[in-house]
Amino acid sequence: MEQLTQPVTEVKGIGEARAEELTDLGIHSIRDLLLYFPYRYEDFQVKDLTELKHDERATLEGKVHSEPSLRYFGRKKSRLSIKVLIGRYLITAVFFNRAFLKKQFSIGQPITITGKWDQHRMTINAQHVTFGHPEKSETIEPIYSVKGEWSVKRIRKVIQQALIQYSNVIEEILPIDLKAQYKLIDRKDAVRWIHLPKSHQHLKQARRYFVYEELLLFQLKMQWWRKLEKERTAGEKRPFNKNEVHAFIKSLPFPLTGAQQRVTDEFLIDLSSTYRMNRLLQGDVGSGKTVVAAIGMYVAATAGMQSALMVPTEILAEQHYESLTQLFLHEDVSIALLTSSVKGKKRKELLQHVETGDIDILVGTHALIQDDVNFNELALVITDEQHRFGVNQRKVLRKKGINPDVLFMTATPIPRTLAISAFGDMDVSTIDEMPAGRKPIETYWAKHSMLDRVLTFIEKELSRGGQAYVICPLIEESDKLDVQNAIDVHVQLQNFFNGYNVGLMHGRLPSDEKEQIMTMFSENNVQILVSTTVVEVGVNVPNATVMVVYDAERFGLSQLHQLRGRVGRGDDQSYCILIADPKSDVGKERMQIMTETNDGFELSQRDLELRGPGDFFGKKQSGLPEFKVADLVHDYRALEVARSDAAALIYSKEFWESQKYKLLRGWLFEQVDEWDDKLD
Ligand code: ADP
Ligand code: MG
Repeated sequence: MEQLTQPVTEVKGIGEARAEELTDLGIHSIRDLLLYFPYRYEDFQVKDLTELKHDERATLEGKVHSEPSLRYFGRKKSRLSIKVLIGRYLITAVFFNRAFLKKQFSIGQPITITGKWDQHRMTINAQHVTFGHPEKSETIEPIYSVKGEWSVKRIRKVIQQALIQYSNVIEEILPIDLKAQYKLIDRKDAVRWIHLPKSHQHLKQARRYFVYEELLLFQLKMQWWRKLEKERTAGEKRPFNKNEVHAFIKSLPFPLTGAQQRVTDEFLIDLSSTYRMNRLLQGDVGSGKTVVAAIGMYVAATAGMQSALMVPTEILAEQHYESLTQLFLHEDVSIALLTSSVKGKKRKELLQHVETGDIDILVGTHALIQDDVNFNELALVITDEQHRFGVNQRKVLRKKGINPDVLFMTATPIPRTLAISAFGDMDVSTIDEMPAGRKPIETYWAKHSMLDRVLTFIEKELSRGGQAYVICPLIEESDKLDVQNAIDVHVQLQNFFNGYNVGLMHGRLPSDEKEQIMTMFSENNVQILVSTTVVEVGVNVPNATVMVVYDAERFGLSQLHQLRGRVGRGDDQSYCILIADPKSDVGKERMQIMTETNDGFELSQRDLELRGPGDFFGKKQSGLPEFKVADLVHDYRALEVARSDAAALIYSKEFWESQKYKLLRGWLFEQVDEWDDKLD
């Protein structure tokens, strides 16, 4: 190991000047050089023609079967083609702008061609040609990312030299038993083969090795951090009365679903244990997260402590306040609402009651995290739609208590691989079951030209007694964007729908007006609500059965799914109609996915595949680790395995003492320095 931490100048052929150039690539030590992996490979292995897919890059071996034919177009451009016999097949090989090759072909001569295969034309668009049989050695060439003075060839050369000198001293990090269990190759072979694979089999094994190593190391770090966290921030036991809590659950207007029950149990175990809860509760829209939160807040209240529930919008705060008031109607629990609309004397009084502990549950928006909001004893902090808040906002709220238990709720289901990587330091509870009797929402994708039919459909639903949302991407007309705006659509629909009330809602209305229009909609005094995405999160009007989204291609998948979740909350069949003429393939695919699945988890998995992990959370919040080889989308099974292996190691005595784990431990200790600036 020590040898590998030496500077790259120890490698033959690397002097001071080259070493300096290598720092541009982030390479300082010999180890850095050995771990500078190719990002892709050029495959010169001869393929069987019958196995090729259209557009695949491949190398083929055959015999020249015709005189070459050469055509010029323009002054410098040329196209040279020959027939090549490959086994029993006659194909065409095409060379662009390489007229000079013409003289080199002779009929019957063996050649090896690498290029892109066109299945339909039985043609290979050749990039390389060698005369004679293929060289058997370097048939898979590594391609490195390079810049500045470096070319792929040059970097390849120095890495190969480093391998010759040092690959034998590469030590094993992974313990023997784990390596045996997963049939992983030695680390030194993995390093060699990732740079110089002799076959696809080699490459596969090298990648397999590093996928596991990377994920295990990452998970070790996470799990250890979590263990330390647990020890460092011992939480409080909440002395609650189990019977009371069970009686409360029994008194709810509906039985809990199995998933709600399971998640509630996990939650209650946390509350009654001495460690500080740090839990993510994820469940699809309408899966009933609120009631689970309510049970937790009930527990805190019966233990004589306070809870805070922070939500991103005022509408949502009001709605949560309403439904909690309803749930606690017959309980001795006091609830209050704090938003920026609560002002002056009323606010002052309210804050006093919070400070003395007269109020058990405080529901609100960002108003909760203002300086002058003080609690008597804040034991439980819950944020709904957690992705809408920044890390700091959540932290400020948490700091208002002494080691409060923390629950994050999200209706944007996060694919499990991302959940356990980005939130590896949290416990994750998942509600993966809908309350009984819910009918799946029928989703349709309509072109703008079908608007008349859509409106007629809405009318039919209204005459049946239902209500509808119509969502527009913009509030008012814009010169820049040719999309529907709420203000104009509101006018149009008022004209179209005689005898029904059409309401307008958007983020720029004063909050009392918003509240008023929302109340009118939920009491069915307004039948159609034209709105921007302010109704996206949480809003609950069970009588609404139609969700129409104008210019749906402007919204992301999870946002569309959230919008769709505004309907399907009652007993009637609900519909979601997406009006879109997407121009891009991704846009089309999104519409397709929406019509194919109602399941938020499946949807988020497909969104992840469509967008890749980096984009999934948006840049700002990602907090996702970067891996060289492992891939969060495809290697999720390995990730789960690594996670449980890591946990087992961290909690075993042997790991901390045995010689067997010395290197792994050493690696882990090296990481500690990085932790200061970790996510909260
Ligand atoms: P979300 O998870 O989206 O926050 P909510 O908590 O708002 O979902 O619940 C959606 C609706 O389902 C609410 O009207 C709620 O009263 C109802 N609900 C929750 N749990 C159940 C259940 N177990 N059985 C029947 N209805 C339920
Ligand atoms: Mg909710």
